[in-house]
Amino acid sequence: MKPAGNPLPHVSQNELQAMAYSDPLTGLGNRYRLRDKVRALAAERADDPAPFAICIANLDGFKPINDLFGSEAGDEILCQVAHRLKACMPDGATVTRHDGDEFAFVLPLVFERLGAERIGQMMKDVLSAPYDLGDRNVRLSASFGFAIYPFAGEEFENLLKSAETALYRSKRRGRAQITVYSTEIAQEMKRATQIEQALRNAIITDAVDVHFQPIVRIRDGMVAGFEALARWRDADLGFVSPAVFVPLAEERGFIDALSDTLLRKAAEAALSWPRELFLSFNLSSAQLMDPGTSSNILSTLSRVGLDPRRVELEITETAVMTSADTAQRIISELRATGVRISLDDFGTGQSSLGRLRDFTFDKVKIDRAFISRITSDRASEHIVRAIIAMCQGLDLSVVAEGIEEQADVDMLRALGCGMGQGYHYGRPVDGAATLRYLQDHYHDFLALERI
Ligand code: C2E
Ligand code: MG
Ligand code: MG
Repeated sequence: MKPAGNPLPHVSQNELQAMAYSDPLTGLGNRYRLRDKVRALAAERADDPAPFAICIANLDGFKPINDLFGSEAGDEILCQVAHRLKACMPDGATVTRHDGDEFAFVLPLVFERLGAERIGQMMKDVLSAPYDLGDRNVRLSASFGFAIYPFAGEEFENLLKSAETALYRSKRRGRAQITVYSTEIAQEMKRATQIEQALRNAIITDAVDVHFQPIVRIRDGMVAGFEALARWRDADLGFVSPAVFVPLAEERGFIDALSDTLLRKAAEAALSWPRELFLSFNLSSAQLMDPGTSSNILSTLSRVGLDPRRVELEITETAVMTSADTAQRIISELRATGVRISLDDFGTGQSSLGRLRDFTFDKVKIDRAFISRITSDRASEHIVRAIIAMCQGLDLSVVAEGIEEQADVDMLRALGCGMGQGYHYGRPVDGAATLRYLQDHYHDFLALERI
């Protein structure tokens, strides 16, 4: 932008020029300064296009702080951020401020991913120290998106767009993330957006399905219940694994809609099973951070008419860790109605035995990673043996996940493991096939049906 004419005659042309290129709040350059710096650097390196990096940083959760403490406090934080960034910039680098809480950098001496990540980490640390607002301290984090010239764009606009894409990905992944743009990342994001759109549609058109896998009493092979597992096949994308689309729905904020549909379908199916069989349903970590989760679940169960005492909810250690107080409250509200809680994938998350003491679980599911090697690897055998003994002491039921062989069953039976699940007993199948499974495997099923 070239300032047109001179609307302020008492200000010199040079001063006007400086104003047009700077941010009045922090005194840093603005986006025109960034653009000019990038163009100048690119021109300088035109003959021998040596790489350099640009970066955009955005403060996490700045708006609520601005709303809570007022815009003066917000401005003060932005000035302190600017000051810190200026102080830690390497030689030759430029910092600018864009709208609101967005800052950008040109880094002439950063030319590859590792270098960018190193600088990102340093800036992240610098920005995470508390901000002094006189009467209080505030803590903030920042997310970063890097783009390296010329790979991520030769023109300023393209380069900036790549940095924005990288920043967007950082934001999507939670707080304080650093992403360096690459074509793989752009592809990955494009695919994630395709999946997101298709999945949102599939929820509306009721096209996401739920399958059931038997959970069996190891002692006599009798089925005790089923775990519901989400299944989705899209006309264009083909089969998409729940390990892909469940985290995506969490990240993009529609896990509640997905989970409601799945629970409703699973609960409806469970109505036609014998009453003593339980339905085990997976809760995602985002749901354990949302105080509305227990009432959502209970109202779905009551709408369908499934007794909460027939329901188990599987949660993971990581989920419990992230937001312990809320998780604790959700768990106790659900348990009060007779819903049981299982700790899923035990042994693989950020395991803490303290968690087993502090939280009230009913059941532990030992992760497949241990079971699949139980007959070939002494360490796995010992770990499983110890988990089973511990659960007996704590009065918790145990399920071994991922049982594929009869030899696994024999070993687990000898170790005193109560329940098992895995391809050996049955793969996840749809509702109709589950009823057939019950006809074949559940002694009283037909008799019960006649009642
Ligand atoms: P999970 O809850 O640990 O579920 C067990 C996974 O192991 C399932 O994978 C199941 O198909 C697979 N599995 C069971 N037995 C065997 C076996 O013997 N061998 C092998 N190799 N695999 C076995 P799936 O269905 O792909 O689900 C993956 C994960 O996605 C689940 O892990 C769960 O964390 C998540 N998930 C699935 N459905 C839902 C859902 O409705 N809601 C939520 N929040 N998460 C879900
Ligand atoms: Mg599970
Ligand atoms: Mg599991």
